Amino acid sequence: MCGIVGYIGHRDAYPVVVKGLKRLEYRGYDSAGVAVINEDKLKTYKKQGKVADLEEYVQGKQLESNIGMGHTRWATHGPPSDENAHPHASSNHKLAIIHNGIIENYDAIKKELTKKGHTFTSQTDTEVLIHFIEDIKLHENCSLEEAVRLALTQVVGAYAIVVMNEDEPNTLVAARKGSPLVIGVGKGEFFLASDATPIVEYTNEVVYLNDFEIAVIKDDKLSIRNTQDVPTNPYIQTLDMELEAIEKGGFEHFMLKEICEQPRSIADCMRGRLNAADGYLRLGGIREYAKKLENADRIIIIACGTSWHAGLVAEYMFEEFCRIPVEVEYASEFRYRNPVINEGDVVIAISQSGETADTLAAIELAKSKGAIIFGVCNVVGSSISRASHEGAYTHAGPEIGVASTKAFTAQLTVLSMMALRTAHNRGTISLSKYKELLVELENIPSKVEKALQLNDEIKVISEIFKDARNFLYLGRGFNFPVALEGALKLKEISYIHAEGYPAAEMKHGPIALIDEEMPVVVIATRDKSYEKIVSNIQEVRARKGRVIAVVTEGDDVIPEMAEFVIEVPAVNEVLMPLVSVVPLQLLSYHIAVMRGCNVDQPRNLAKSVTVE
Ligand code: GLU
Repeated sequence: MCGIVGYIGHRDAYPVVVKGLKRLEYRGYDSAGVAVINEDKLKTYKKQGKVADLEEYVQGKQLESNIGMGHTRWATHGPPSDENAHPHASSNHKLAIIHNGIIENYDAIKKELTKKGHTFTSQTDTEVLIHFIEDIKLHENCSLEEAVRLALTQVVGAYAIVVMNEDEPNTLVAARKGSPLVIGVGKGEFFLASDATPIVEYTNEVVYLNDFEIAVIKDDKLSIRNTQDVPTNPYIQTLDMELEAIEKGGFEHFMLKEICEQPRSIADCMRGRLNAADGYLRLGGIREYAKKLENADRIIIIACGTSWHAGLVAEYMFEEFCRIPVEVEYASEFRYRNPVINEGDVVIAISQSGETADTLAAIELAKSKGAIIFGVCNVVGSSISRASHEGAYTHAGPEIGVASTKAFTAQLTVLSMMALRTAHNRGTISLSKYKELLVELENIPSKVEKALQLNDEIKVISEIFKDARNFLYLGRGFNFPVALEGALKLKEISYIHAEGYPAAEMKHGPIALIDEEMPVVVIATRDKSYEKIVSNIQEVRARKGRVIAVVTEGDDVIPEMAEFVIEVPAVNEVLMPLVSVVPLQLLSYHIAVMRGCNVDQPRNLAKSVTVE
């Protein structure tokens, strides 16, 4: 996790760096720091807390410089503190580093360096790396870039780093393995960042650094070589990202903006891919390997967090329409479990950022055993999208709020399209059903729009339950993953303990928790398990639980038994998660705001989990 920014060029670096850090703060926010070379001196300033605390701290300091870098941290090694904040400096304070990732063999290197007389002021793995680079540089009497290269050949772990040297004020050295790093190429200036959001307002020409590549920006020129010292030509791409898309646009929080954007983001996701009137459905990114998907004996879906919930919905869809067995796996378990993967198995990897470390590692494992990988990512050019054989972007636009909302519904949209297209080509869905579902899918944005109009009603319910200490979320069938997602949203941003369960499982344990204080959110829209879930509501009521039911418009049964009813528009049950999740997103949002929580940057979390 963590956000890194670097700048070298004709502008004053500090304002560029700090603005960039604010854009990346969603990635980590327990401390922040900057380094510049001012009056021939390398100066580092760092502070526990948010970027705003750093800004206050550096007020009045001499920071003018044409080179600079900054970091906003999500601690892995050592608690959040001023000392552990980045940048970290070498012993002689000539070199400084910012780092995203984990140096796994830092302890062994630290012991060696300690024997040589190095002392450390932080508990981080990162400080060890800069001392190591310094040690090599002095020992080999080489340039900074060569010292970085030599050090990285001995490092185990994941990193995106930027390094500066007081004696080379015209040079920035950056490298990556496993953590993202983008280079913005301007006119006589360069920008480095964990993602493109700090860069877009200056240039849309970017280079995505690959694993094991080292970029050296020196005297207005960018050169790249790998850790084996083989040079490569920088591949410059043009970004398609609007600045407006990464600003709050009048909303109080990014999360609310992103919830409200869903009619548009879902429509964007279908644009050019679906036209129900003509029966047209194509995913441009899935061509060459489409037959592999259609003929798969089984599909393995790999994801983490909210993306894993999207994967569960996809399991129901693929099995229902395509009649292909599906397994949905937590990437972190899958990769370490010695899973059975056969040549030709199909893996669908889902990740908003496309940088999720566990998912990326799981992909590599599956690939090495001959699986075909389809990536479903939001961030264009991300590591997972590049590591996949083929895939489809979700086109939801930048998602800044740490709790995922519009990325989830866009993932569901892509996965629905994949499942429907595959079923159609396999002949496992009737033409009439296929066409009916294309129309349903096309109408989802307007249904979500309607669901958003529930906002005021949900605010009233939120006020009533904002002080609850626990919540249960229940759903069946396609709405079961929605129950999990609703509970996760509430936990993430309001810090209320919540559990999602398949409604029928309640009897096997959680029912013991129900009393007159327990709010139970039941997603009970009209589908084939409707009667069953009505019985589950009765079971909750019989134990005095407080039922908040999400029902289909016009339901006249559940309002008789539930304390609160939220009516969403009717949708085919298969696509209902796209709509039924919306009130749950709003519920968690309002409860969190009412509890005074930092909705966009919840404690202990970070947006893009680039550490395992
Ligand atoms: N491992 C480093 C630390 O704990 C970097 C963590 C990060 O990616 O923010 O400071």
